[in-house]
Amino acid sequence: MSHVLDYYNHLHTIPELGFEEVKTSKFIAEKLAEFGYTNIQTGVGGTTGVVATMDSGEPGPTVLLRADMDCLAHNIDGEVVLRHTCGHDGHSSMLLATAEEVIKYYPVSSGKLIFLFQPAEELGTGAHAIADAGVLEGVEYAFGAHVRPIEEASNGQAVAAIYYASSATIQATFTGVTSHAARPHLGVNALDAAVLAINAVNTIHLRPTESYSVKATQFHADSGVTNSIPGKAFVTWDLRAQLNPTMKELHEKVITAITNAGQANGCTVEYDDSKMLTAAEHNEECIDLLKEAISEVLGDENMVPEVITPGGEDFWVYTNRYPNLKAGFFGLGCDLKPGLHHPDMSFDTSALENGVKIYLTVLKNLGMID
Ligand SMILES: [Zn+2]
Ligand SMILES: [Zn+2]
Repeated sequence: MSHVLDYYNHLHTIPELGFEEVKTSKFIAEKLAEFGYTNIQTGVGGTTGVVATMDSGEPGPTVLLRADMDCLAHNIDGEVVLRHTCGHDGHSSMLLATAEEVIKYYPVSSGKLIFLFQPAEELGTGAHAIADAGVLEGVEYAFGAHVRPIEEASNGQAVAAIYYASSATIQATFTGVTSHAARPHLGVNALDAAVLAINAVNTIHLRPTESYSVKATQFHADSGVTNSIPGKAFVTWDLRAQLNPTMKELHEKVITAITNAGQANGCTVEYDDSKMLTAAEHNEECIDLLKEAISEVLGDENMVPEVITPGGEDFWVYTNRYPNLKAGFFGLGCDLKPGLHHPDMSFDTSALENGVKIYLTVLKNLGMID
């Protein structure tokens, strides 16, 4: 048995938001040093990211294993509470325990192994920051994992490939002219423009055979008084598509609709579309490696071949930025209830040991460790 539960039990008590994983990354870096890693980078790319590298000095592949570290903020009874409700504490503990097992019992005999503890997955910007820092340069294979809801896999099972969707957020600001409600002809009502834009987006239709959705999720327009025309309105849209080309088409159509509808009554429209997660692009060789590892560790009958989810995961930013990167991402069954991002999310932590074994088996089958 590895020490994965010890690490989980500690990380679970120190939940921290994206790019603020100060205690988390300090704990991880200290443990890696304690295990004997000498090549440890902290503060990667000016973030809280941690990278530990073990180079065998022998020819072989460069393989990166990635875990995320951040938690979520929940509003519970009017109070903001930080909690690990997406299981990233579990992911970090699995990777930390894997790093410990590797250096103590399974030294890397060929190629180079990189352990990446990534910040800010939930913000959708953590993977970009790590890629900007050059961590993925020269990496041939990348693997990651996520705990899965019980509907997808139960404790003792694992999923070889999770087909995450692409997701995007567009936040638009409509600027008109404020005026007294008695003299509306002197103003430009930003609220009206925002409503037009929402309706215009709702008329977008792509091919019905493609899986996608777009909906407004936030709307703010308030001049502060009831008899004044609001000069500003803010609307957020959430976009989802199962495939990257569908997202590209949807995104373009949404921007056109927002811009044209907003300008129709004289408003100016500005938007921020920087938050975009690309859909999963699993590499066949990586799927096979994960299937093989899951069968070996949990038995063929407990290998769930694939799951399709409308959820997003910023791990796939790496394949988007590095199209030649071979990537695989497995799902860990752990009787997770009632669901990810639910304030009362809990799971059977005994499953984390399975995750460590799956990682080690992948490395073994890649010929990197014995
Ligand atoms: Zn999440
Ligand atoms: Zn997550």
